[in-house]
Amino acid sequence: MKAEQKSLFDTDAPPWQLDAAAEQYVAQVAVAAGPVGVLDYVVPEAMRDEVQIGTRVRVPLGRGNRRVTGYCVGLQNVCGTTRRLKNILQVVDGRRLLSPAMLRLTKWMSDYYLCPLGQVLETVVPAGVRGSAGTRQTTILSVPPAVRAGLRDLKLPKKQAAVLEILSRQGTPMTPAQLAEAAGCTTAPISALRRKGLIASQVQRLRHQPLETADQPVEPYRELNDQQHVALQHILKVLRGGRHETILMQGVTGSGKTEVYMHAIREVVSYGRQAIVLVPEISLTPQTVSRFRKRFGAVAVLHSHLSDVQRHGHWEQIASGTVPVPVIVGARSAVFAPTPHLGLIVIDEEHENSFKQETAPRYHAREVARQRAIDEQIPLVLGSATPSLESYYRAERGEYLRVRLPHRVENRPLPAVNTIDLRTADAERYSRGAISRQLHIAIEQALSDGGQVILLLNRRGFSTHIQCPSCGKPVTCPQCEIGLTHHKHQRQAICHYCDYRTRVPDRCPHCNFSGVRFLGKGTQKLEEEVASRFPNYQCLRMDTDSMQRPGSHEGALARFRQGEVQILLGTQMIAKGLDFPNVTLVGVINADSALHLPDFRAEERTFQLLTQVAGRTGRGPRGGHVVVQTLQPEHPAIQAAVAHDYEAFAAHELPTRKLLGYPPYGAMIRIVVRSSQADHGIALAGQLAEQLQLSADEQRVALRRIGPAPAPFAKLRGKHRFALQLLGREPDGLRSVVRQATKGLKTPGDAQWIVDVDPLDML
Ligand code: ADP
Ligand code: ZN
Repeated sequence: MKAEQKSLFDTDAPPWQLDAAAEQYVAQVAVAAGPVGVLDYVVPEAMRDEVQIGTRVRVPLGRGNRRVTGYCVGLQNVCGTTRRLKNILQVVDGRRLLSPAMLRLTKWMSDYYLCPLGQVLETVVPAGVRGSAGTRQTTILSVPPAVRAGLRDLKLPKKQAAVLEILSRQGTPMTPAQLAEAAGCTTAPISALRRKGLIASQVQRLRHQPLETADQPVEPYRELNDQQHVALQHILKVLRGGRHETILMQGVTGSGKTEVYMHAIREVVSYGRQAIVLVPEISLTPQTVSRFRKRFGAVAVLHSHLSDVQRHGHWEQIASGTVPVPVIVGARSAVFAPTPHLGLIVIDEEHENSFKQETAPRYHAREVARQRAIDEQIPLVLGSATPSLESYYRAERGEYLRVRLPHRVENRPLPAVNTIDLRTADAERYSRGAISRQLHIAIEQALSDGGQVILLLNRRGFSTHIQCPSCGKPVTCPQCEIGLTHHKHQRQAICHYCDYRTRVPDRCPHCNFSGVRFLGKGTQKLEEEVASRFPNYQCLRMDTDSMQRPGSHEGALARFRQGEVQILLGTQMIAKGLDFPNVTLVGVINADSALHLPDFRAEERTFQLLTQVAGRTGRGPRGGHVVVQTLQPEHPAIQAAVAHDYEAFAAHELPTRKLLGYPPYGAMIRIVVRSSQADHGIALAGQLAEQLQLSADEQRVALRRIGPAPAPFAKLRGKHRFALQLLGREPDGLRSVVRQATKGLKTPGDAQWIVDVDPLDML
């Protein structure tokens, strides 16, 4: 990481002129700009007190001495150096933005995810905190106690005496403007007093806006059942032992995992410590938050829709420790909450992909949380009905402690799941719609019994592709070479990757044939079909198109909860975490839509999605069942979901992973090259492959390389994409190979490469 400032040697000052015995106070500064990592700078004498580890500083960078901001991440006295270092120019913040623990964590991230430390810090410290959003800097004046004691003996000009008199009578600090107004004078006498040292001044940040006040905790704790009790005891044992352990809580949907988290948090809070609860962004609804607020009162919520001011407010409140914030609930980035007294981290639905950030640093909150928990010697609890195979495997190997909750609360049964074979069902359909005859009957039955229905279709839009029957070519995005989706309501053809939009073509753009076909079914089409099949019931569609306005998601769920809406249909947005006791039927329109994507986790995702959506029913006393339409009812992933059998799925999937050396059996690093010109991309990818091989040979690291080859999405947003994957048994060795191979790599044209450690996105 540490780069030498070679360009800084001053040619007209030969090294022997430097005083070799002189001691220099040197700061290591991490800058976000450029590929460099951490650079050394001299701390000028006058800044010695201000520059601390964790404060930001302005430094000159490169030959042009461009001024950039960086974080001081280390300080040391260096004796007899022969290097000529530049000086720090200025201290940016009057306080540290990073605690020592957070600095250790970010250094680990930089190393693990092969990302410059400055860039990691940029992610970890929110922009609102860096910019001190919502606060302004103000000078405040006070009379030092010694001056106050000898006030009567002072001989001062009349104006100055009056000013000093007013300020000392005031008792509380005042700004120069307030004081001038109170004394009816200009600021000149005030400045004179400050120069004489008779008035002390201090720069402070004042908050513009008070923080929202928290609800009072009201809800009583439920008495835990036996399996919950056992799970809690495992967590408490680790907690009371003051040590780290990762606990995988593998509990079926509705087994009361959340209740166990809350009991554990209660204990943590009773020690005066704090807990961080990470949930997928999509589950961060007011209902989820209020569940925690009702128990713990002051709960800070950190999610991606916060304004800079709000985020900064929460951050300060959490960090200060003066206003107690016992619980922080948030999405991925809440793992960086600056809690001074952290006692526990919980990750609910730990298998969710949204815990991985898809831009640099491409970190996974689960791994970061684990590192933080090890460092702070606290337990980490991972909860899921369908743990990621990575976590499952670690539990199998004894790296994680596993607790199981195999039953739902109050011994409610898991819903019965039936599959409908779409290959044979076709013939018996009422229409050529998306809903088979059997599913139609099941919906009718559920509705007439007063129940509610959830329908899952994981494709948004109306028709999922547009194709010419004459030349056979699909209508694709000019930026992405991906088929456009027909959105009937907007009357547009839309690219689901770059959001390119165009009028729906009535002629084929390739052969000009009039009469292009709209094929495939999206949620908009399903909505139309449901409305025409069940005209006496209210139906509501939930996908990213219908949920764009802020609050629409909560509004929709509230209408469903109140029973105003009987049929809720949508994409995976509706599959996760919802707890509606009156849902007696879940229908899956097409279970195999994601089964054959070119991604080694396609089956795992399908299994997870089916299990999660099935878990939305049978949560109340009325019970419930699930109907799954599929072209492959015999597929092991679908069979395992039908049987609610996680172990069967793992037993089917793990041997394949092992055979191919895929995670969890090996580490994986993915490198993607992007370029607007294909040949530049190919050249860079080829060069990378060569360098990787050289480094691997040199370091004697055994690895398997896949590619370079065009990525499954070969062109996105106008950039050609080439991917290569590295697989190996030693994660550190793999990282070290990539580090060496990418050092000083020249990139042709606008070609770029990105490194993704433990990638989840293979497309
Ligand atoms: P999970 O997180 O495993 O899906 P939850 O914690 O949300 O499950 O619990 C499902 C439902 O059961 C919730 O409505 C919850 O209030 C209720 N519940 C949890 N624990 C108990 C218990 N011990 N006794 C009765 N009801 C419970
Ligand atoms: Zn596009």
